[in-house]
Amino acid sequence: MNPLMHGNPPLTARLEPWMERLLADTVACGELVERFGSPVNLHDFSALGRNAQELRTAAAKHSVALQVYLARKANKTIGAIDAAVRADCGLDVASLNELDQCLRRGVDPGRIIVTAAVKSAALLRLALENQVVVSLDNLDEAADLLEMAGAAGLKPCVALRLASGNPGLPPTRFGLRAAAWLEFLGGLAEPAGLEVAGIHFHLNGYSAQGRALILAESVRLVDALTGIGQSPGFIDMGGGIPMSYLDDAGQWEHFWEALAGQPVGSEEITWKSDSLGATGPGPSKDVYPYHQRPVGGQWLETILGARPDKAQGSIAEQLAARNLQLRCEPGRSLLDGCGLSLAKVAFVKERSDGVPLAGLHMNRTQCRSTSADFLLDPILIQGAEPRTPRTPFRGFLVGAYCIEEELILRRRFDFPYGAAPGDLVAFPNTAGYLMHIVESASHQLPLAANALWDGRNWVPDEIGEHELRP
Ligand SMILES: *Cc1c(COP(=O)(O)O)cnc(C)c1O
Repeated sequence: MNPLMHGNPPLTARLEPWMERLLADTVACGELVERFGSPVNLHDFSALGRNAQELRTAAAKHSVALQVYLARKANKTIGAIDAAVRADCGLDVASLNELDQCLRRGVDPGRIIVTAAVKSAALLRLALENQVVVSLDNLDEAADLLEMAGAAGLKPCVALRLASGNPGLPPTRFGLRAAAWLEFLGGLAEPAGLEVAGIHFHLNGYSAQGRALILAESVRLVDALTGIGQSPGFIDMGGGIPMSYLDDAGQWEHFWEALAGQPVGSEEITWKSDSLGATGPGPSKDVYPYHQRPVGGQWLETILGARPDKAQGSIAEQLAARNLQLRCEPGRSLLDGCGLSLAKVAFVKERSDGVPLAGLHMNRTQCRSTSADFLLDPILIQGAEPRTPRTPFRGFLVGAYCIEEELILRRRFDFPYGAAPGDLVAFPNTAGYLMHIVESASHQLPLAANALWDGRNWVPDEIGEHELRP
């Protein structure tokens, strides 16, 4: 538990050594916020290679050839591209800008996949001209790409995005059923004008069993494609590789028990008794499982060893028998340990009914994903001696948007030694989604700066210099 600031009950983040070193250096933290503004997103990608290697080691145990692609939408920095390349990873891109930046940065086009949910003509053209694999989502998109390729005299290289027909999996808006893809390919006037390089899918959630089912289905689709003259070489299983932010499973369980016991009307644990979507004493489905097992390599191994069709071999054996490469696209879990956000305390006051509040130079879109809350205790770093002495309180963190519900986090925090303007609050392990996925520049407040540890110094990430095109 962090001594200067913690939730009640606490949820104590696991920290990388670089985070511990930085947070212990009060002066350096203060200088970073002076230099880059508040909040600042700090990146040290030293953990990325280790995260990728854990997956490769797991695959190698099952004799599976694995390529890891970083899902760029999880973090927009240019530093993340460089770190992925250094760690021998490819890039999964979801927009024209994401693709353009990777190509300009010198990423091998053969190590990029375009998985954007909706693809502009400009995006398709850039991919086509660079022979980047496009994950096809639907037949209109396929027609757009084929038409463009025909006019340019180029052969598109695609992965078919597979929507599972397995009743054990939830319906999905992404991709098409195997039969629809086969019918489409069968109807092509020039079947040789399209190269199907592989199969792609990405499932919501973290179910290993679900992945095993759709992998088996993908293998069957590969066999059918081989039968009609295609030679797909990979199956890309998308992202959603689970991770834990908390080391202590007990803290996680205890938190949800305590929250279920919070009386309606009480704000001892959360703002306005917010249940964060929980309907009982267990974790809510509306937040990330900040503690879970298995994760990473162990999780991948359960998939590779699974035998969803009793008559067939394991998933690993089915892939190996066809010489298929396995690909994955982790975003969050590959960025585990790579980021931290620092914000400055602006004021300490009381709500009109006396509930203590600490205001930050930050807004709530700057540490948030699409889920109900970010459930890790921030870390308080005391600045210089304040104008008035700090006194202990239990309160909420509020932000810069002019909205009553502008909470940075929905949980209430203990400040056993108080807090004061000029102190800093660090949000740990934020590189995967928490910094960028929903950040906004409302009120014309600028987006947060992104800084990068280059091995010697903190330097501005080059994403700040990129003009955003429509
Ligand atoms: C978002 C996304 C990912 C990354 O998912 P994580 O949960 O961050 O691992 C990978 N592939 C596709 C197609 C995605 O949309």
